[in-house]
Amino acid sequence: MKNNLSALTACHACDLLVAEEDIPLNSKAHCPRCGFPLYEPKVNTVNNTLALVITGLLLLWPAITMPILEMSILGDTSFNTLLSAVVKIFQAGYYWVAFVVFFTSIFAPLAKFSVLCTVLLHIKAKRYTPVLPVLFRYYVKLDAWEMLDVYLISMMVAVIKLFDIAAIHTGLGLFCLLGLLATSILVTITLDKKQIWDHIEDLCRKQSS
Ligand SMILES: [Zn+2]
Repeated sequence: MKNNLSALTACHACDLLVAEEDIPLNSKAHCPRCGFPLYEPKVNTVNNTLALVITGLLLLWPAITMPILEMSILGDTSFNTLLSAVVKIFQAGYYWVAFVVFFTSIFAPLAKFSVLCTVLLHIKAKRYTPVLPVLFRYYVKLDAWEMLDVYLISMMVAVIKLFDIAAIHTGLGLFCLLGLLATSILVTITLDKKQIWDHIEDLCRKQSS
């Protein structure tokens, strides 16, 4: 049984507290006062998100280690990977910049996808461990720190500026990085956090009964 507080949901537009009813699949719930959509269940959220997360994890390693760009300046050719970019920034003495690029473009996506994969696999296997709610809470926090899109845009700006003085060819790593970015966006579309919290709550209840 849910307690009274967890059975309430707040309208994001007018802050009205609304009693959470059992909403059937594929139907929207609207605020009775202002009409703002309160909740829209997403179909097959666990399976769809799990498929995307596994794709993301498979794309992550080539996106980090394969050349993103091949640049030739005055006969000198260099291959740039995400990992080598971090190392070069660090060696140039910009330690904090290197740390931020590493954290937002390598660590955050890796941690985010691994944590979400663990949570979804536990839900699929109907297994509960007390770290499950903690992990999902960390996922929500990490989601805000992943900034692959910012990294890609800044790289594109640099590339456009270099076009006049260097011969630039795209590498396989760039396509993996774009795929990773697309996967990350699709995860935010398919993931229904409310349903995941409900699943975690259900597993916890079954474990303790
Ligand atoms: Zn409202």
